Amino acid sequence: MTEDFDVVVLGLGGIGSGAAYWAARKGARVLGLERFELGHANGESHDHSRIIRRSYHAPNYVRLANEAYAAWAQLESDAAEQLVFKTGGLDIGPKDGAIALQGYADAMRDCDVPFEMLDAAEIRRRFPMFEIHDTVHAIFQEDGGIVAAQRATAAHQRAARQWGATLHDRTPVTAIHDAGGEITVEAAGRRCRTGKLVVAAGPWSDRALAHFGMHVPLEVTKEQVMYFTPRDPAPFELGRFPIWIWMDDPSFYGFPLFGEPAVKVTQDAGGKAIDPDTRGFEPDPDISARVSAFVQQHLPTAFGPEHLVKTCLYTLTPDRDFVIDRLPEHPNVALAIGAGHAFKFASLIGRILAELAIDGITPSDISAFSIDRPILKMEAPPKTYMV
Ligand SMILES: Cc1cc2nc3c(=O)[nH]c(=O)nc-3n(C[C@H](O)[C@H](O)[C@H](O)COP(=O)(O)OP(=O)(O)OC[C@H]3O[C@@H](n4cnc5c(N)ncnc54)[C@H](O)[C@@H]3O)c2cc1C
Repeated sequence: MTEDFDVVVLGLGGIGSGAAYWAARKGARVLGLERFELGHANGESHDHSRIIRRSYHAPNYVRLANEAYAAWAQLESDAAEQLVFKTGGLDIGPKDGAIALQGYADAMRDCDVPFEMLDAAEIRRRFPMFEIHDTVHAIFQEDGGIVAAQRATAAHQRAARQWGATLHDRTPVTAIHDAGGEITVEAAGRRCRTGKLVVAAGPWSDRALAHFGMHVPLEVTKEQVMYFTPRDPAPFELGRFPIWIWMDDPSFYGFPLFGEPAVKVTQDAGGKAIDPDTRGFEPDPDISARVSAFVQQHLPTAFGPEHLVKTCLYTLTPDRDFVIDRLPEHPNVALAIGAGHAFKFASLIGRILAELAIDGITPSDISAFSIDRPILKMEAPPKTYMV
């Protein structure tokens, strides 16, 4: 039997769940298909928390971040659940660090986002948990905080169903045929027909693109988050300790206590390339050593016994920019790839994908994220993962 839908969403991680919600909210008959169980830990979107911030290196991202807060607020209202927790955000690092704060400050000024520049003395006064040299400076932006990641994905799924979407887990898509406007999707013995397809396959994006004879140079890496139990957790509680990013190479970032009785710290893009179908889940001792050394040096009172280590995947484009586009030869297919920093935008990107699929156009500026930009056509592109 063939079922008919207006929009089929392939992949119900952070972004695909957002797309299913926004497409159903627009009144479309939506089918979402997920190969694993909902909320699984095989992809990119599990665990309690992700950083959300207006502070970004370029104005187009700052504007998108402003829209992202609004998208989460809409979901919070529909799902009757708080999902964004403002803690304040600190972009902190040596003045000659690999990631210049100047570009972040310029981009926020461009978009009228208020922020403060802090010198080392002021950082120590406000956040004495940081052990830093006098050469360290920081940007503080008051809206930085946490998106409750796994709860947000579950809220998207719940709200999508409330708006009438059908979501199936343990249903891998194995075949897609686009007969010029009418798409047939096969998944675990199901066959459905749809006018529009949204692809949000995360680490499996290259497999999904292969259905359309397309390829983009992606690197999937195995990253990890580490939770440390501080002897005195009080200074690291939500409301007292900000989210922070260390703006150097290597770059680290971290969170107050949230979801676990421990402080979460991770290295950005420090993991090794893997195949998402054969990867292991064991921690990488090299990352563990780097993260532990950083915490011991710069957050010594947070350093305590390891409470948990979780591994998670990044799907990296060579320029670290997202892909959010319709496929050039299949304009009824919209796709997004999150480049390892997209959870904060998951609801917004979901909304944009729903707009691209249903209306063919979005009011959001996604001009930098096209799938046929020159670097994505290179076989061995230069890689810039520091942003
Ligand atoms: C350790 C770590 C820390 C991070 N920190 C931050 C942060 O602080 N802030 C931030 O904004 N971002 C952060 N990110 C990045 C962010 O989490 C990801 O960009 C985002 O979660 C990507 O979501 P996704 O939906 O594209 O991928 P996924 O969540 O992996 O979803 C893809 C889904 O597609 C499904 N799928 C694939 N192929 C098929 C198929 N054939 N049939 C059916 N289903 C299929 C998969 O099973 C999966 O569920 C972090 C990521 C990691 C790993």
